[in-house]
Amino acid sequence: MHEAMLYDKLANSRVQCNICQWRCRIGRDKSGVCKMYHNRDGTLYNLNYAKVSSVAVDPVEKKPLFHFFPGSLVFSLGSWGCNFHCQDCQNWEIACPETSELWRTSREIKPQEAIRLAKEYSCQGIAWTYNEPAVWFEYTLDSAKLAKENNLYTVYVTNGYMTPEALDTIGPYLDAWRVDIKGFNDAFYRKLAKVSHWRGILEVAKRAKDKWHMHVEVITNIIPTMNDDEKQLQGIANWIRSELGELTPWHVTRFYPHHYMSDLSPTPVSTLEHAALIGKKAGLKFVYIGNLAGHQGENTICYSCRNLIVKRFGYQTKTIGLGGSKCKFCGAELGFRTTIPNPK
Ligand code: SF4
Repeated sequence: MHEAMLYDKLANSRVQCNICQWRCRIGRDKSGVCKMYHNRDGTLYNLNYAKVSSVAVDPVEKKPLFHFFPGSLVFSLGSWGCNFHCQDCQNWEIACPETSELWRTSREIKPQEAIRLAKEYSCQGIAWTYNEPAVWFEYTLDSAKLAKENNLYTVYVTNGYMTPEALDTIGPYLDAWRVDIKGFNDAFYRKLAKVSHWRGILEVAKRAKDKWHMHVEVITNIIPTMNDDEKQLQGIANWIRSELGELTPWHVTRFYPHHYMSDLSPTPVSTLEHAALIGKKAGLKFVYIGNLAGHQGENTICYSCRNLIVKRFGYQTKTIGLGGSKCKFCGAELGFRTTIPNPK
């Protein structure tokens, strides 16, 4: 067990965890919402340090990140547990380990080993993904520091519910923040993930961009009857445009029936195309249609000269018209990141 970094000691051996916005107040011998932080005699411990449930060498497009080192391989690690309990979770076996046998099958990969493996497999970076990275925060922080020393890029694939102080702790070592904005009203977040104060996700995403200069991409999985209404989609698109900027990619992805939402239908293609139109009307230059291999909405087209910049089919990528961060045909800024930034 690893002592947690960000918590307050309270009276009567209680503690308050400050890693995510639940800010769980945890009694002695109890755990927080994510089940990965445990109070033992007034000290908070993280239970899953270096305990890996899933490991893969992925194309970075699978995260999805489309404007960040396109075509590169990223060493991808997931652990156990989550601070959200979404009804449509694709990875519930690892997100809810207490109901699974898999906890016993963890592989231990220490930060040094993760970096060694990333280089051995010719990855340009490392990502914490598959489950919420904040719930093994200490491990991701130690690994991110080492990754930067080894000239690897670093990626959080996150529901965005981390606290500002946790973000500020890991911010100097993180390059990309791939964040879900799942919907845009209280009732939706409550129903999907049992989260009420979801607007903190927006503040932290903005902070990742403004304060820590991370590359930010946003994803919304569009679930029929849940978040496919005009108002929510416009809300997300307008917020991205005004707070993160017009070059921020927005991925609108197809929902497939899953977990507690097996009774719903897959998202109609027309709904995804309409969402993309809403994004464009809001002023976003790049809205991508995802989970639908072969759709034209996967490609990057220059908004200025209309030339094809990156052609994609699923996770296959062909870069055609990129010169650094810009369109090589007309010079328009496209907001791509292709070099590892200097230390912050
Ligand atoms: S990381 Fe876990 S224990 Fe800490 S505040 Fe979030 S849900 Fe609670």
